[in-house]
Amino acid sequence: MLIDTHAHLNFATFKNDVDEVIKKTLGNSIWVINVGTKYETSKKAVEIAEKYERGVYAIIGLHPIHLETGLVKIKNDQEEIELKTKEEDFDYGKYKELALQSLGEKGKVVAIGEIGLDYYWKPKTKRKLELFKERQKTALLKQLNLAKELNLPVCFHCRMAHKDLLEILNYKLKTINYELKGVMHGFVGTAEQLKEYLKMGFYIGFNGIIFKSIKGINFEENIKSTPLDRILIETDCPYLTPPVSVNQCLDQHKSAFIRNEPMYLKYVAEKIAEIKNLSFEKIAEITTKNAKKLFTL
Ligand SMILES: [Zn+2]
Repeated sequence: MLIDTHAHLNFATFKNDVDEVIKKTLGNSIWVINVGTKYETSKKAVEIAEKYERGVYAIIGLHPIHLETGLVKIKNDQEEIELKTKEEDFDYGKYKELALQSLGEKGKVVAIGEIGLDYYWKPKTKRKLELFKERQKTALLKQLNLAKELNLPVCFHCRMAHKDLLEILNYKLKTINYELKGVMHGFVGTAEQLKEYLKMGFYIGFNGIIFKSIKGINFEENIKSTPLDRILIETDCPYLTPPVSVNQCLDQHKSAFIRNEPMYLKYVAEKIAEIKNLSFEKIAEITTKNAKKLFTL
């Protein structure tokens, strides 16, 4: 069995066949956690999870790129266009209410996320840049408080902002009186940054991005340096499709035509097994155990 710890079957790309995709996923012994990126997709993730007795869960939160910054550029992808038109501010009460709907006995909301910092699309002037970063940090801190109040782990998104995120977490971990648990989803960072997050006790999530080459990032080394009991696997579908056949080019533009889904999680597990020099079964077993532990599944 495998657990896709970060999927977006709650996104518009899946609106016509989400039930079929989940049926196929569960039928192949894969559990899935759908992650919200704003209120609407968070609510959708909860709705989907509640339809299933077991094996489908939700993470709710406000992704930094959905804050009202007006900076996310339109890509030729439906979801991105949707992002552009519906940005929001973090509404603590609204998200709390959504979480409470599904906590307790139902236990479908398993974490707060994806939250964090994203400095990819940044404003050009210094003053605007400062405001932009401040807004993201404020939303992040509010959501860390919500996680604390609800006693939930956190799913972090961080893009080109590790320095600031580490600073916030170092400060936060020193000043709060509870143990913040969470995962650095789709980790793209240096060996040094990885070490810091591991030291703080976080899990590290790997997805199809490990098949790409990114300047300054050594995915193979990062996987080698992450202890087995801290690895989670994910697809981040519909994005980041791994090379699903020998003929498929790894080129971003070409692979973008194949919609990623939880069924392709095995390619990520296979790659990690190869790098760790362990069997696929061992990686499947340990990452499943880790996911169950972190998210109390
Ligand atoms: Zn995601």
